[in-house]
Amino acid sequence: MWSVGISAGFSAAHYIPGHPKCGRLHGHNYKVELHVESNKLNEMGFVLDFGDLKSALNEILKRLDHTLLNESVSKDYQPPSAEKIAAYLYYEVKKSTDLRNFNIKVRVYETPTSWAEYFEI
Ligand SMILES: [Zn+2]
Repeated sequence: MWSVGISAGFSAAHYIPGHPKCGRLHGHNYKVELHVESNKLNEMGFVLDFGDLKSALNEILKRLDHTLLNESVSKDYQPPSAEKIAAYLYYEVKKSTDLRNFNIKVRVYETPTSWAEYFEI
């Protein structure tokens, strides 16, 4: 089994209603990792081209960059915790034709030391 991945970032604001600290409007420089697993390689010896992975992820992150996540992410993914953002990105990335048939994981770092990950088992 192989696992390949890329990382990218975006900056956004959010608040978690009802939380004593995170209930106040604040921002993060989010880092996102996309992991793709496969038990076979293509004729070039790749799981997938890193360039294709980057364009798929960056296309989605562009829509969130410099937004208020409480408004820019749909109701199903509210409140916009790192956990919910990871799930949102997972399903958005899965819509990409190249990734539909792969097992993927999306990890979202809210700070350099705190992350949440979403995947299906
Ligand atoms: Zn926060």
